[in-house]
Amino acid sequence: MEKYDVIVLGGGPAGLSAGIYLSRARLKTLILNEGTAGGQMVLTHEIANYPGVEKISGYQLANIMRKQAKEFGCDIRNNISVKGIELTGEEKKISLSDGSVYTSYSVILTPGGRPRTLNVPGETELKGRGISYCATCDGDFFSGREIVVVGGGNSALEEAVSLTRYASKVSIVHQFDHFQAFNHAIEEARSNPKIDFRMESVITAFNGSEKLESVEIKDLKTGGKYRFAAEGVFIFIGYVPNTSFLVNTVKMNDYGEIIVNNDMATSINGVFAAGDSIAKKYRQISTAVGEGTIAALAATDFTYQVKNRMKHELIL
Ligand SMILES: Cc1cc2nc3c(=O)[nH]c(=O)nc-3n(C[C@H](O)[C@H](O)[C@H](O)COP(=O)(O)OP(=O)(O)OC[C@H]3O[C@@H](n4cnc5c(N)ncnc54)[C@H](O)[C@@H]3O)c2cc1C
Repeated sequence: MEKYDVIVLGGGPAGLSAGIYLSRARLKTLILNEGTAGGQMVLTHEIANYPGVEKISGYQLANIMRKQAKEFGCDIRNNISVKGIELTGEEKKISLSDGSVYTSYSVILTPGGRPRTLNVPGETELKGRGISYCATCDGDFFSGREIVVVGGGNSALEEAVSLTRYASKVSIVHQFDHFQAFNHAIEEARSNPKIDFRMESVITAFNGSEKLESVEIKDLKTGGKYRFAAEGVFIFIGYVPNTSFLVNTVKMNDYGEIIVNNDMATSINGVFAAGDSIAKKYRQISTAVGEGTIAALAATDFTYQVKNRMKHELIL
C-alpha cells in the first residue's frame, strides 16, 4: 500500500494540469491513467487553438504536459486498470488490477470520455477494418481512396478536412440539415473541393466480410435507402464519459457526467473532478486544463487542511 497526498484518476490534459499544480504545491501526487499519456489529445493530428502554443500535434502537446508534471515530481502510471475505488472517509483508496493499492487524502477524477459509436449492424465487426474513430491514427491508410465521415460537430468537420490530405474524396454524412460547429470549421469544410455533403442522412449498416466495402445510407427526407461504396468510414459523433466505474460513488447526471460545483468539488468530501467527464457544455483542451487547475487548487487547500489537522491531533 503506497500513500500519496492526492491521486488523480486520468492522465489527459485535465489530469496532467492538476498534476502540475499539485506537485508544484509540494503535495505527493500520483496520476493513474488507464490509457496512453495525454488522453484524447493524442488522437488529434493538429491542435491550433490551444492558447500560447502555435500549431502542434496532440502527441507533442501531451508530451510537454507530461514532462512538465514529472519535472515537478509528479508520479505517473499509464495503462493501468482500476479495480476498486473507495472515496468516502478521510483516507481514499484505489486498487488496481495488478494488485497495487494506493491511498490519498483527496482524489481528482479526470477520466475524460471516449468516442460514441453508431451502434448499427456491422460496426463492431468492421471496427479497425475500415471503421475508425481517429483520423490521426488511421487517415494514412486511406491514401487516394474515397471515404466517409459521420458527424456534424467541430471534430467531424475538422477531421474531415484533415482527411483530405490522404483521401481523394470525403463524403460527410450528417443527420441534420445544419452543422453544430464553429463557423470557421464549417467554412473550411465547405470550401474544400474534396468534400461533399450528405445532409439529413444516416448510416444504417456497414457491409463487408474481411474489410469494409460499403455502407447503407438512409435519406431522412425521402426515407429512401441506398448503398454507398466506401473503404473507410470515420465516425465523429460525440463522446461517452468514462465514468461507469464511479456508479454509486459521486453524484452524476443522467448522461453519466460528474456533477461539480465552481471549485470542481463533487458530492463527496475531498473528491474533485475536471475535464470532459464533468457535466458541462464545452469540451476542449483549454477548458479541461482550466478545470484541472481549479480542481488542483481546491484539492491543495483541502489536503493541507486535513494534513494540518492530523498533525495538530498528533501533537495533542
Ligand atoms: C478527434 C478529436 C479531436 C479534438 N481536437 C481538439 C482540438 O483541436 N482542440 C481542443 O481544444 N480539443 C480537442 N478535442 C477535445 C479534447 O481532446 C478533450 O476535450 C480533452 O482531451 C479532454 O481532456 P480530459 O483530460 O478531460 O480527458 P481525456 O483527454 O479523455 O483523458 C482522460 C484520460 O483518462 C483515462 N481514463 C479513463 N478512465 C479512467 C479510469 N477509470 N482511471 C484512470 N484513468 C482513466 C483515459 O484513458 C484518458 O487517458 C478533440 C477531441 C477528439 C476526440
